[in-house]
Amino acid sequence: MATLVWLHGGACNGNTQSFLNAEEPTIVDLVTDFGIEILYHHSCIPLMGEQAKETLQKILAAGGPDIFVFEGSVIQGPKGTGRYDIFLDRPMKDWVADFAASATFTVAIGDCACWGGIPATKPNPTDSIGLQYLKGAKGGFLGSEYRSKAGLPVINIPGCPAHPDWVTQILVAVATGRGADVALDDLQRPQTFFKTFTQTGCTRVQYFEWKEPVEEFGQGTRKGCLFYEQGCRGPLTHSPCNRILWNRQSSKTRAGMPCIGCTEPQFPHNDLEVGTVFKTQKVFGVIPKEVPEGTDALSYSVHAAVARAASPKWAKEDMFVI
Ligand code: SF4
Ligand code: SF4
Repeated sequence: MATLVWLHGGACNGNTQSFLNAEEPTIVDLVTDFGIEILYHHSCIPLMGEQAKETLQKILAAGGPDIFVFEGSVIQGPKGTGRYDIFLDRPMKDWVADFAASATFTVAIGDCACWGGIPATKPNPTDSIGLQYLKGAKGGFLGSEYRSKAGLPVINIPGCPAHPDWVTQILVAVATGRGADVALDDLQRPQTFFKTFTQTGCTRVQYFEWKEPVEEFGQGTRKGCLFYEQGCRGPLTHSPCNRILWNRQSSKTRAGMPCIGCTEPQFPHNDLEVGTVFKTQKVFGVIPKEVPEGTDALSYSVHAAVARAASPKWAKEDMFVI
């Protein structure tokens, strides 16, 4: 049996909505098959007001939960008081500090909890911050030296929102005693989900190879790759969105919507250039400003020009894309 407390800071509740839709495993499976006892979750446990406050206080007095999950940014404003986000008579940031200090494992769910997310985007009026990062800079609310009782840093499961199965599968690993074995990448994300690029498994990848673009947004059944005109960040983003499909059915890129890079700390990207999210940014109107990791813009552009010139007839024709 592993106890779990889930708190919610500055966010839209999207990660809870995602969590409620988990399929492999479901939330019910977490409880019945994997022995997770959810002591507090604002949408799953019917506790409010004084009852909720007493419950949380008792959990802390008893030494804290096995798993502390936090969704949303930690709101520090105004002027470091945290009073923009009061929860059960205290700034939420104080609850976060107490639970993080007492939990065996601490898990950040979604971009806001991991990196500050949209609330922490400039000018960041609420002084929002992630648990152990502010955007790509390590530190965050808990500080870079923070370790949970198990000796681990915060386990970051980013996304806007995170895919439900990324969440429940990591919770199972932690609850069944394999939490210390979860290999993390440089940004403390589980490698099992975040080692590969979003592009892995994309049904448009053959067009990426031949540099054939899709010209219009939302063309789910049309040929072409979304990287060249539509701003797709699939080759620049670490996620398994085309390996572990959404709703077990599809992904953004399969449906004709560019990946907007929501699992990376810099999300939302291009936030200073209004209107550029769905438009590939280019140098001299030709060379993509950002190119896949491990190459440079000039080499990539030469390669792209040669590939496009050599692309076979089928790559230029309309084909059905799942
Ligand atoms: S649509 Fe995006 S993810 Fe798919 S192949 Fe093109 S760049 Fe990669
Ligand atoms: S496809 Fe990209 S933007 Fe969409 S959920 Fe996956 S990582 Fe996020």
